[in-house]
Amino acid sequence: MSSVRLQGVTKHYGTQQVLADVRLDVQDGEFMVLVGPSGSGKSTILRCIAGLEDVTQGDIFIGSTRVNDLPPHKRDVAMVFQSYALYPNLSVFENIAFPLRAARVPKQDVARRVREVAARLGLEPLLARKPRALSGGQRQRVAIARAIIRNPQVFLMDEPLSNLDAKLRGQMRAEILRLQRQLGVTTVFVTHDQVEAMTMGDRITVMDDGRIQQVGTPHEVYHRPANTFVAGFLGAPA
Ligand code: ADP
Ligand code: MG
Repeated sequence: MSSVRLQGVTKHYGTQQVLADVRLDVQDGEFMVLVGPSGSGKSTILRCIAGLEDVTQGDIFIGSTRVNDLPPHKRDVAMVFQSYALYPNLSVFENIAFPLRAARVPKQDVARRVREVAARLGLEPLLARKPRALSGGQRQRVAIARAIIRNPQVFLMDEPLSNLDAKLRGQMRAEILRLQRQLGVTTVFVTHDQVEAMTMGDRITVMDDGRIQQVGTPHEVYHRPANTFVAGFLGAPA
């Protein structure tokens, strides 16, 4: 069963076409990586799935629901941004709790749920702190905790590790994969980093210039690149 489906999605900003006939099927529980150079349209795809941007043409489905006309809060998705976008004046606890408060979840349920999610990410000792008192990796964990707290059907991550140093990045890759497997949540993960794509994706979607160049397992795109772009970007050296 597919959990996210894009059919013939086209997107223009003014006269510039940034997505051209994008067709994508992300399976239930799959970890899909969207990879491509800067400006290839990766963030735009995530923003269209999340409802932060309208598509010019085409259909987007989440589960069996066509979501084109639904506002972001009515789509069963959560997104993590590169910048983390934490609220600086709120504690870690309140940052994580924010989506539940907005949905008017009862107080005692909020506290229980925040502790559950914080425990999964090793954040329990940090719940009273403000974001400025956290390391980069800790901030990223808070952003992830806030995203998963409402049990979204789909988890969208836009270059979440690009602000971290190499060692921490490796650690967080493993942590994100472990969490994704535990929760079984369908994930679309954006990166411009080939190694990240190859090591994390169940499948990889390679983008260039607003078009999907290839979709396949890391093994397939590496050993059987569909065209010279994919070969140059990800494939085995000739
Ligand atoms: P990526 O995430 O792969 O780097 P983006 O999806 O951010 O690429 O951008 C794709 C193209 O759309 C780029 O040419 C970018 O300049 C353009 N673009 C992105 N957002 C906007 C916007 N709000 N207004 C106009 N052009 C935009
Ligand atoms: Mg981007």
